[in-house]
Amino acid sequence: MPTEDPRRQLPSVARLVQSARKARPDLPVWAITEAARELLTRARQRITEAAGSPGPPTGLEAVVAAAEERVLPHPRRVVNATGIVLHTNLGRAPLPAGAARAAAEAAAVYSNLELDLATGRRGRRLSAVADKLRQIAAVPGATACNNNAAAVLWVLDTLARGREVIVSRGELVEIGGSFRVPDILERAGVRLVEVGTTNRTHARDYERAIGPDTALLLKVHRSNFTVSGFTKEVSLPELAAIGRGRGLPVVEDLGSGTLVDLSGRGLPKESYAPDRVREGADLVCFSGDKLMGGPQAGIVLGRADLVAALDENPLARALRLDKLSLAALDWCLAALLDGRATTEFPVVRALTTPAEVLAPRARALADALEKSVPASLEIGWEPESARVGGGSLPEVELDTWVVTVRGTPSPEALARELRRAPVPVLARVRDDALRLDVRTFLDGDDALVVDAVVAAARCSADSHQVDSNGRKSC
Ligand SMILES: *Cc1c(COP(=O)(O)O)cnc(C)c1O
Repeated sequence: MPTEDPRRQLPSVARLVQSARKARPDLPVWAITEAARELLTRARQRITEAAGSPGPPTGLEAVVAAAEERVLPHPRRVVNATGIVLHTNLGRAPLPAGAARAAAEAAAVYSNLELDLATGRRGRRLSAVADKLRQIAAVPGATACNNNAAAVLWVLDTLARGREVIVSRGELVEIGGSFRVPDILERAGVRLVEVGTTNRTHARDYERAIGPDTALLLKVHRSNFTVSGFTKEVSLPELAAIGRGRGLPVVEDLGSGTLVDLSGRGLPKESYAPDRVREGADLVCFSGDKLMGGPQAGIVLGRADLVAALDENPLARALRLDKLSLAALDWCLAALLDGRATTEFPVVRALTTPAEVLAPRARALADALEKSVPASLEIGWEPESARVGGGSLPEVELDTWVVTVRGTPSPEALARELRRAPVPVLARVRDDALRLDVRTFLDGDDALVVDAVVAAARCSADSHQVDSNGRKSC
């Protein structure tokens, strides 16, 4: 018996839009229309691919939910309860409040961005930031661009285009999927000369590889993994000595660098970027929004003549820092000059707060949850280890405190529901428990977490009741 084509049973875009607008006049037409179109397109495709299947739901409810999703701003606030201080998917470093204000102010007004007010002539966008960087780091040259991947490209294009760059095989890393050292070298028009093996590279490997076409020696911080066992790496001072002997610049891509020495607080000594220049790097570059805790930026420190060459490269214009990030970076550098790193920077605070200070916060959160969640959930609090994350310092673990939630609904169901909260909460699930790590909480997060967990416990139990107007009841 021939059955009717299920595609014919789909409503039209116009009809779907009409009913959704009637049910939810508060939602903008653009969101409803686009949601209806996309839903129907997907339904048609699904029916075609799996002939005879009824396809996904295309009712009022589905359109309203999709339209609601579309009107949400992106990116929007979430609570980071993962304990991963620098979480790439969660936007890495939250800015100090003053830096965020500086960025907002710069965004909304005219400014002297590229004007010298004394002469009335064109001024340099980066001069204030470069001055502060030189002063903080006590280095002869400093500059900045949009991000650290851009900084690496900028340095290679300026110093090595059409020539050879020597890198250890142990440092040909991939960072976050889209940044691979060999690819960026290729894009910069540089010939990569690999030396050593994955686990061992010796000074003589570099020495032997140097030829008439060599432009520079590149050292890349491994950032997101460690090598252990039978290993050998040429240290920066050793590499610098080779470079000096052969008249070649040595560049280090540090990735996660800081402008304050946090080695006394459990972070590795090599993250302190100014010392890398003193240990012999002609240039060192790092991210503004990793360990430094500032805005997205690529910061370059080192020799004044090489920095001048960077600033003169036409590529600098394509990679330049935007005025919002510039204003935030300038504020951060002033705060560092004032010695306010550990008080003002959320990242530095999160990284250096001792576990004893976190324990009462975890306990208070556990108490608040205990009072508000259904009896089917068991609340606890226990010590744990947190990672720095964000492709930064895989070897560094921080002692922390987590609040645990066990029982019904399951930790997985709770975690899923928490991501749908008005302010979504990102937590970990391990050993049959949802784990909320207070190390990465910002001000106000504790109350948001209580609200979200209470609502999630109710929601996942009800599995999303939707009223006749397409509103979720939980
Ligand atoms: C993170 C990282 C980068 C990329 O920096 P972005 O600021 O994300 O552009 C490059 N190199 C290393 C070693 C890194 O760790």
